[in-house]
Amino acid sequence: MTATEHTKELYSAMGISPEVYDYGNVIAGQLRERFQQIDDIAEYNQLKVLHAMQKNQVSEACLLGTTGYGYNDLGRDTLEAVYADIFHTEDALVRPQITCGTHALALALMSNLRPGDELFSPVGKPYDTLEEVIGIRPSRGSLAEYGVTYRQTDLLEDGSFDYEGIRKSVNEKTRLVTIQRSKGYQTRPTLSVERIGELIRFIKEIKPDVICMVDNCYGEFVEEREPGDVGADLVVGSLIKNPGGGLAPIGGYIAGKKECVENAAFRLTSPGLGKEVGASLGILKDFYQGLFLAPVVTAGALKGAVFAANLYEKLGYAVVPNGSESRHDIIQAVTFGQPEGVIAFCRGIQAAAPVDSHVTPEPWDMPGYDAKVIMAAGAFVSGSSIELSADGPIKPPYAVYFQGGLTWQHARFGILKSLQSLVDAGLVERNALNA
Ligand SMILES: *Cc1c(COP(=O)(O)O)cnc(C)c1O
Repeated sequence: MTATEHTKELYSAMGISPEVYDYGNVIAGQLRERFQQIDDIAEYNQLKVLHAMQKNQVSEACLLGTTGYGYNDLGRDTLEAVYADIFHTEDALVRPQITCGTHALALALMSNLRPGDELFSPVGKPYDTLEEVIGIRPSRGSLAEYGVTYRQTDLLEDGSFDYEGIRKSVNEKTRLVTIQRSKGYQTRPTLSVERIGELIRFIKEIKPDVICMVDNCYGEFVEEREPGDVGADLVVGSLIKNPGGGLAPIGGYIAGKKECVENAAFRLTSPGLGKEVGASLGILKDFYQGLFLAPVVTAGALKGAVFAANLYEKLGYAVVPNGSESRHDIIQAVTFGQPEGVIAFCRGIQAAAPVDSHVTPEPWDMPGYDAKVIMAAGAFVSGSSIELSADGPIKPPYAVYFQGGLTWQHARFGILKSLQSLVDAGLVERNALNA
């Protein structure tokens, strides 16, 4: 038997029917050129990361950690210099004490805004968990409680920027502009780095001293450029997404202008202490190694997203991005129009996991979200969404958001498993797979 025949046999043993397997093969066969482009970007980003590590003389000593106050933590300080080089920013804060992406964003906002300032989003509603940070949904300790107001301008119907609306919204109080690169739990398009650059240019023309922050979650290493290359003053993300490469077990980063990063450091630790304290404990080797792998891991996840888009698009589901458009993050939205589709999809993803594949996910009331959410995540790092994962809020339009896969091979298996789950639930007709 050939390797392919062995693989098909094992797929079958792992619950993938011949129809689903063959259907996936046809789709994958059509994507060779796309995958080559993804590999080309990964090659560039791999070199970018390596270059930054070499330039900053990452040494064996950097992989060790400190305890207690963590003064003179060579590995931590060097890693922050490496991040600053990769993101082409003046400085960076990369810490295990930043507990997640929301925390990183909240930290960047709360440290750079003062009472009386206004926060402005020119790209519509921000990510769900930020609603409580900002105080759009009232919450203890929100920016609103501290006298920071908020304003937003929605994207136009076709996804373009409402330049007129933006011009009207920027006022004497506007201090910080937050731009979310990724779509999050919405079906709007993700912003390319180029479009982020256009937006920042426009805003800086109106008000040059405003701080432009980009929520870079899920966008790292998808393109050759990052928001820091197009004028962002702050670039913020989570280490249990792309830049952690699947190995970082916790953490977030804030890269940007020296003053903005310093503000964040003063808030994370204490005024006066800033970046000087914060022991790295034993975590640095995983931060470095994960960052080193991140370009290739991101490429695998991206291939999975493109595969999912094409597979579900051909079956007639609305997918964002669509099968052929260019990618600016690793998230794939598939709209099922009914809760059963979201649930079956997520159960398929769960069944494909290396950890907890035997459990059945159920919709639940997650802190920070305003509707029940079902999550599929059988990850080595709890909640890591650079690993194969999917989540869907149980509310119209009943879209599921799929992302990750530490390898393309695993992403592929997971997507086939999701399709199998839909077929088994009677939501996709077997003969639809013959097309
Ligand atoms: C994931 C994400 C966040 C929040 O990150 P958590 O680690 O889940 O707190 C914020 N913004 C966007 C766009 C995200 O994708």
